[in-house]
Amino acid sequence: MAAEMTDNATGAGPYGRATILGIRIDRLDMASAVGVVRRFLNSGKPHMVVTADSAGLALAQSDVELRQIMLSADLVTPDSSGLLLGARLMGTPLIERVSGIDLAQEICKICAETGDSIYLLGAAPGIAESAAQNLAAKYPNLKIAGTHDGYFSDDAPVVEEIKKSGASVLFVAMGIPKQEKWIAAHLQALGVSLAIGLGGSFDVFSGQVKRAPAWMRNHGFEWLHRLISNPRKISKVAHLPRFAIMVLAERLGLRSGK
Ligand code: UDP
Repeated sequence: MAAEMTDNATGAGPYGRATILGIRIDRLDMASAVGVVRRFLNSGKPHMVVTADSAGLALAQSDVELRQIMLSADLVTPDSSGLLLGARLMGTPLIERVSGIDLAQEICKICAETGDSIYLLGAAPGIAESAAQNLAAKYPNLKIAGTHDGYFSDDAPVVEEIKKSGASVLFVAMGIPKQEKWIAAHLQALGVSLAIGLGGSFDVFSGQVKRAPAWMRNHGFEWLHRLISNPRKISKVAHLPRFAIMVLAERLGLRSGK
């Protein structure tokens, strides 16, 4: 990751970081996240953005590789309401939710303006293409450098294709922790200035999956919508009580976040 961000003490945004379960989350609002993205793009050097939710933080307690990746990422945004609540409990409140799916759309707006192109990697065959078509229709002048599904066994040709495409930005939608591990393993070889993990966002951009209504998103019930839409999500949702218990234990001094 870029040398200028190796000192993670202060964070990429203007308001520092909060630490939850030993993971540093950038304290920023969407406007400052957009500013950070512009800075990453202008630098021309590779940067990794993690959009962290409660399930991801719970997972990072047992997955050492994911934890290291989160700790060395250039930007870690608070992607869920649970994380905002956890931060408040820890006495280090975050500013607002900066979800991957919303940040991705802001990145599309920036790229449509600057001429930087975006490569979409992930989701089932055909989904990244429809997502790309819909994004290109929504953001005139947006350049899509290429697309590839998220079900492949040989990384090398995919890395080569992304590099050859000349993309400045890489969206990776293969679910946490697969997407974070993939980005971290290949970031230096991809030739992009910014790579970001986006979970199930391509399914939403393609129109395959409906996003939770705004009232559910704003009141911390997005997980319930995802569970009702796809009951197989139960294993992910099961991380939420784990996250809550671990945060409470850390707050009460029964557990160390280090
Ligand atoms: N996916 C993929 N390759 C895989 C496994 C999953 O591209 O090997 C895709 C899957 O098709 C879906 C996304 O990754 O589009 C995972 O979405 P999910 O909502 O589960 O991610 P989360 O936001 O929960 O991390």
